[in-house]
Amino acid sequence: MSKLKIFNFISLFVIMYLVINMLLMKDVIQDGHPTLRKRAKEVELPLSNEDFNTLKSMMELVVNSQNDELAEKYMLRPSVGLAAPQINISKKMFCIVAPDEKTGQLFQFAVVNPKIISYSEEKTYLSGGEGCLSVDEEITGLVKRAKRIKAKVNIVDLETKEITEGIIKLSGFPGIVFQHEYDHLLGILFVDKMEETINDISALEFGEIEKDS
Ligand SMILES: [Zn+2]
Repeated sequence: MSKLKIFNFISLFVIMYLVINMLLMKDVIQDGHPTLRKRAKEVELPLSNEDFNTLKSMMELVVNSQNDELAEKYMLRPSVGLAAPQINISKKMFCIVAPDEKTGQLFQFAVVNPKIISYSEEKTYLSGGEGCLSVDEEITGLVKRAKRIKAKVNIVDLETKEITEGIIKLSGFPGIVFQHEYDHLLGILFVDKMEETINDISALEFGEIEKDS
């Protein structure tokens, strides 16, 4: 075989490997699946290669889903977050790619073993409702969330596998997404909490970016 042929052969395998390992919508389990109702288990640290690679693929799915071209190519529903139980892995880890509604600053991170340690009394909700990749696309619902939260997290660097332990404060949209993903680790879906109308608190208005998570 010529060098070029060998090279093509190898690239074909690399591409096949990448496609096979890429998470797609078919990998996201749907409401009714028992894993979505379990309390997820703590992730063992230091992080195993398997968990690290899972987190990387989860992040890739969310990032790709926000790219119109890739979303169309791989038929991905736009999303702003994904928790491991949604791909049938009952472990405490999730990733988020969500902009701040006021500044546009992007909050993109992967965490393991997060713990929300405080919730503001002040509540808010997404005016257009929440959605979820594990719930039928047609269903959205209004869910009361804390306006601000404080959480203890282990943030995973998806390049180096390095873990940074710390406390983060989130408010507004990224805070809502965090609470939505955190619920997945407790076996809770937004449909369990949704209300028909919410009158007593002010909504978070958020043009186009109300995506599923
Ligand atoms: Zn969800």
